[in-house]
Amino acid sequence: MRGTDGDAKPLRALLIDDDPDALLFMRDVLDRRGGMDVATAGDAETALRSLDGVDVVVTDVEMPGMTGLELLTRIRAARPDQPVVVVTAHPSLDYAVEALRGQAAEFLRKPLDPAELLRVVTDLGRTAREAAAAARHVVLAVGAHPDDVEIGVGGLLSAHAARGDEIAIVTLTRGARGGTTATREDESRAAARMLGARLFLEDGEDTRLPVNDPTLSAVQRVIEEVRPQTVYVHSFHDLHQDHRAVHQATMVAARKVPTIACYQSPSATVDFKPNRFVGIDDYVERKLDLLACFGSQVKTRDYLESEVIVATARYWSRYGGGRYTEPLEVVRDRTDAMPVVEER
Ligand SMILES: [Zn+2]
Repeated sequence: MRGTDGDAKPLRALLIDDDPDALLFMRDVLDRRGGMDVATAGDAETALRSLDGVDVVVTDVEMPGMTGLELLTRIRAARPDQPVVVVTAHPSLDYAVEALRGQAAEFLRKPLDPAELLRVVTDLGRTAREAAAAARHVVLAVGAHPDDVEIGVGGLLSAHAARGDEIAIVTLTRGARGGTTATREDESRAAARMLGARLFLEDGEDTRLPVNDPTLSAVQRVIEEVRPQTVYVHSFHDLHQDHRAVHQATMVAARKVPTIACYQSPSATVDFKPNRFVGIDDYVERKLDLLACFGSQVKTRDYLESEVIVATARYWSRYGGGRYTEPLEVVRDRTDAMPVVEER
């Protein structure tokens, strides 16, 4: 687990106080001594507009306009997990302080002890980052060729992206048989960018992918790097030998991944037998946009025609809900992590 050490981004603190000297003092401690990225605000209203990307908020209580107490309540409502440190010069007389104690992550008295301030903010920031990292869901889509995963789970990946999941795509060949590799690489990158996905483009031999190395170790390497909770991959029920090889290699490489499901390719056989149907009504257009990235293929491959893509999703909706559906053969599901899942 990365904290604030090494190459991780420095912690970001937002300091709020109407006293410029107090701000200067706190900034000095957290920035110069703590190496943090520090933003400041002289009032609560400004602070509320500056919360994006902030790990820890440190606020004074006694301020004109909105007080630190009201600010804390507002932050709690919008960001329940945001750590807030409350600072006051008058702990004894302030009846509100008792109320604050329950909501504030920490409570410090002025004059501030620099070492204590630094320790409290650092601990809270690290804990918050670790919790956020633990809650993040990582999805890996594995395909033999450029455009395979977009055809199979383009809608589903768009749904994962919309809910903030981290997405990675590994493509085992650069598609030399289907056009120039440079074009197909660019196309793959454009689609990955649209999804906000990390793309791993391997150099396997198109149409001759082996089940064992280098396919197996390539998938294994990516899994070790991105640590997915969910993997989507080709079905074994597929006429294309590369698709079957990638399926088999991924079954081995992803043996410790909690959830694995297989998608349908245009070359899937009648033995493709999905048992999970994911509604993609809101993401059909997005799926078509993704596939439009593969311009060099759209002209020559009729399975990439919008009509075929939409009609296929429409067909599978007879087993799922809504109008458009992507079908999956679930090999194993220990996380319940797919968005909008409809059981047959
Ligand atoms: Zn393929």
